Amino acid sequence: MPEAPEVHNVLTYLKDQLQDAEIVKATITHPKLAANLPVEEFCRDLEHQHFREFKRLGKYLLLELDDLDLVAHLRMEGKFLILDSMADVETLDPLKDRKHIHALFELSDGRVLCYKDTRKFGRMYLYPKTENWQSLPVFKNVGKDALDPTLTETELYEKARKRKIPVKTFLLDQKAMAGIGNIYADEILYRAGISPLTLANALDLADWKRILDETRSILNQAIEMGGTTIRSFTYGDGHAGSFQNKLAVHGKEDGAKCPHCNQTLVQTRINGRSTWYCPDCQKEK
Ligand SMILES: [Zn+2]
Repeated sequence: MPEAPEVHNVLTYLKDQLQDAEIVKATITHPKLAANLPVEEFCRDLEHQHFREFKRLGKYLLLELDDLDLVAHLRMEGKFLILDSMADVETLDPLKDRKHIHALFELSDGRVLCYKDTRKFGRMYLYPKTENWQSLPVFKNVGKDALDPTLTETELYEKARKRKIPVKTFLLDQKAMAGIGNIYADEILYRAGISPLTLANALDLADWKRILDETRSILNQAIEMGGTTIRSFTYGDGHAGSFQNKLAVHGKEDGAKCPHCNQTLVQTRINGRSTWYCPDCQKEK
């Protein structure tokens, strides 16, 4: 699943390609993709809107148009790609590629922004444009972005004090801090020296400072490296990141050793999510 760095890079690609481009026709063939409006209305409203600003909150993309805010969440496998023409869309392999394209945004210059999603879990939301976009209904349970400089360790500490759940689950639920998924959560807790099983309410302010510092350091490094490519996550015209080569614990094979102390890493499940950690470097509190 794309996390903040991967979504950031998708956004950079879209901004590079779509700044001030005009949508002349929108077609959505998987109605659930249009999450908050009837699909006909969703598509009609997009006509003659231009892409103006490109923003991100956690794992959500926000594409600001003339009068509307278009929000997209890629979930597991959603991808945007831009083709030169509708003729190019029609030449895609019908079984491998074309059938997974569920939205087409035809642009005035002939190009087509395609949304492809093999799992169909991704969603899009359309709202009247607002200055106060972080307050849109879709962001009701989404906290500040992990890279938002106004987010402090004190805020995290205060929110975690009431939560008797493993810190990894706390990081994944997006309410206190948005943008971290399963891969980066393991790496952040490893570098912060905190067991993913430690309860969120057992951590002190210094622990949260380490978690926040490591979060920002890892996410920024991953953005610079184009994100992490495991399984099939690529964006745009097949761009792939390389941060997977920097992962210390997440996704390691059975018997793999901690790069710091050489202890065998533990693989377990926390709240259903595969989790890797070092039992020596990451003591439970
Ligand atoms: Zn270790």
